[in-house]
Amino acid sequence: MGTSTEPSADETDAPDAATEETEESAVETARKQLDRAATRLDIDPNVVERLRHPRTVHEVKLPVERDDGTLEVFTGYRAQHDSVRGPYKGGLRYHPAVTRDECVGLSMWMTWKCAVMDLPFGGAKGGVVVDPKSLSAEEKERLTRRFAQELRDVVGPHTDIPAPDMGTDAQTMSWFMDAYSMQEGETVPGVVTGKPPVIGGSEGRDGAPGRSVAIVTREAVEYYGWDLSEVTVAVQGFGSVGANAARLLDDWGANVVAVSDVNGAIYDPDGLDTRDVPTHEEEPEAVMTYDAPQKLSNDEILELDVDVLIPAAVGNVVTADNAGRVDAELVVEGANGPTTFAGDEILEERGIPVVPDILANAGGVTVSYFEWLQDINRRAWSLERVHEELESEMTDAWEAVRAEFEGGARTWREAAYAVALRRVAAAHEARGIWP
Ligand code: GLU
Repeated sequence: MGTSTEPSADETDAPDAATEETEESAVETARKQLDRAATRLDIDPNVVERLRHPRTVHEVKLPVERDDGTLEVFTGYRAQHDSVRGPYKGGLRYHPAVTRDECVGLSMWMTWKCAVMDLPFGGAKGGVVVDPKSLSAEEKERLTRRFAQELRDVVGPHTDIPAPDMGTDAQTMSWFMDAYSMQEGETVPGVVTGKPPVIGGSEGRDGAPGRSVAIVTREAVEYYGWDLSEVTVAVQGFGSVGANAARLLDDWGANVVAVSDVNGAIYDPDGLDTRDVPTHEEEPEAVMTYDAPQKLSNDEILELDVDVLIPAAVGNVVTADNAGRVDAELVVEGANGPTTFAGDEILEERGIPVVPDILANAGGVTVSYFEWLQDINRRAWSLERVHEELESEMTDAWEAVRAEFEGGARTWREAAYAVALRRVAAAHEARGIWP
């Protein structure tokens, strides 16, 4: 399981961090989910077949000079899954476990995520096989500029728009944007999102994935007729997704009883003061320094007796091995792909609803869309406006998914896939296959 992976600056995405041979890769999970969702829907099987594959995967070699003068060649990918509804969109991750297949699976999830939010984007994902902790800031800058250069022909504000992901952040996006702009001969802020606001980034982008997790949790809690002020919550991961979700839910009255980072979990049955627990951004890997009544392992937090469990760290943490022991009433996926296909089936059999990643953490790409609009219009929005528009986009998406759920989808994941697939398939049917 993925508990040994370091938290990242943008934890929206999780690597396919399984260590067990038997665990499925992101692309296998993504294909099984697609096939399952498509069987219930009246969608042209040819379109489904098309959607089982990426349009293309770019692989690039990145020679980078290390600080000691030696040269190291890294491998980078950009998987572009589908662009029928608009430019490819999705993050770039720097992580040692990055593979071609992982990028493909994650790019498929981006297609559904953008469609479920009704954003005019397709899906992509990329990354470099590298441990970002092993790079100095200068090395990371050289790597990023070279990556931007090698991807220059296939990215752009109207073709493919990268964003932060695990191991990358606003600074990485700044370098990427600068390298691209230098070659284009003009400043092109819209080539990436997740930039700092001083160069065209959006207010509220950093906190957006966690905010959407909190909004969707609030909606789901209401759907099941529970009272948020009586709900107990455990959050795995205290980076940008987990910490923002935990703090907002805490602000809104929920009882956040456990949070964790890479070193383990802290647990207080009476509720933690989440503002006092250091986030990964405030002080990396410091959750365990907080004085809490109980300390747990990262596996134990997943099995806590709580109302809501939010895995918001890495992928493949709820698996066939431990899904039988999950003791929550509801799971809301903060990370990308935290539940394997087999783990999902066990939770379904046990009657534990799972609100999927492609809806729950979609606030990140939604505010990326806001950022892209601000870049095109050369006009910045206030934080208040970002929050208002995000709230409205999230509740609209929730309503669309809820309607599918009530209309016969077996799970929330299937309902979210149905919303997304219907939109993507309709666009494919309208445009047709050419030639
Ligand atoms: N990496 C984030 C995600 O998985 C954000 C993608 C984006 O903003 O393009 O949703």
